Amino acid sequence: MRKAALPSESTITPLENVRIVLVETSHSGNIGAVARAMKNMGMNNLYLVQPASFPDEASYARAAGAADVLDRARVVESLSDAIDDCVLVLGTSARGRKVPWPVIPPPRAAEETFHHAVQGPVALVFGRENHGLSNDELQRCHFHIHIPSNQEYSSLNLAMAVQVVCYELRMFYLRQLEEGESGPQLLPMTRPSDQGWDQPLAQVADVEGFFQHLEEVLVDIEFHRRDRPRQLMTRLRRLFQRAQLDQMEINILRGILTSVQKSAGSAGGGSRTPES
Ligand code: SAH
Repeated sequence: MRKAALPSESTITPLENVRIVLVETSHSGNIGAVARAMKNMGMNNLYLVQPASFPDEASYARAAGAADVLDRARVVESLSDAIDDCVLVLGTSARGRKVPWPVIPPPRAAEETFHHAVQGPVALVFGRENHGLSNDELQRCHFHIHIPSNQEYSSLNLAMAVQVVCYELRMFYLRQLEEGESGPQLLPMTRPSDQGWDQPLAQVADVEGFFQHLEEVLVDIEFHRRDRPRQLMTRLRRLFQRAQLDQMEINILRGILTSVQKSAGSAGGGSRTPES
C-alpha cells in the first residue's frame, strides 16, 4: 500500500486525528446522514454534544452502511468535553457575526486541519439546524469555515455542510498521497503548527484556563468590568486565538498573570500557577 508523505513521521494518519462535532442536533436523521457523509470521505470520529435523540431508529436508517460510525460516536455533555484536548478548532457558520473572526473557505480549512492534525486532535464543529452555533461557541474557535453559498439562501442542510467540508479534507488528503510519490518536501516554517517549531501547540483546555486567568487579572487591576464587558474579552480572545499559542507561551503568560496578581495583592495570586 502507498504511504502518505505528510509533514510528520507520525504513524497515525492525520485524518484519524480529525473529529466532526455536532452541537445539539435536533433531527436524529441528520446525525445518520452525517455519519454516511463522513464514512464516504474516509472519516469516522463523530462527537455529539447533547443530541435531542440518539441513538435511535431514524439515525441508523439514514446512516445506511455507516452504522459503525454511529456505534463509535461519543455523546458528550458540553462543547468543552468535545474539544478540550484539541490543538485546533474550526467552527462552521452560514452567516457573519458581530465581531468578525478569521473566515476561511473549505479548501483552506482542509489545509489548516492537516497542518495541525499531525500535532494533535482537530475539531470541526457544526451547529444546530435551526440557529447554528452561538456567538460564544464560535468564539471558542480559531477559524470559521464558510461555504460560499448563495448569499440570499446561504444555509445548507447540516449533513450537506458536513459533506462539503469532508470532501475538501479528502481532496487534500488525496493530493498529499500523490505528491508523496515525488518524495518528501522541505516546507517553509511560518507558524506554530509547522514541523520544526520548538514547542508543541497548546490544547484548548489550557488556552481556556489562560483566558479565565486573564479575565480575573483584568478585573483585579480594574481594567475590566464584568458588568460592562464592551467586547473586551472577545477581542482579546480573537487576538490570542490568531497567534495559536504553544504550551511554553501559555506557561509564560500564566506566570506573568500570577506575578501581576501578587504585585497587585489580589487574593487569586499564585492560585493558578501552571504546573510546569
Ligand atoms: N439557520 C442557521 C443555520 C443552520 S444550518 C443559521 O442561520 O445559523 C446547520 C449547520 O450547518 C450550521 O450551524 C453550520 O454548521 C452548517 N452550515 C450550513 N450552511 C453553511 C455554510 N454556508 N457554511 C458553513 N457551514 C454551514
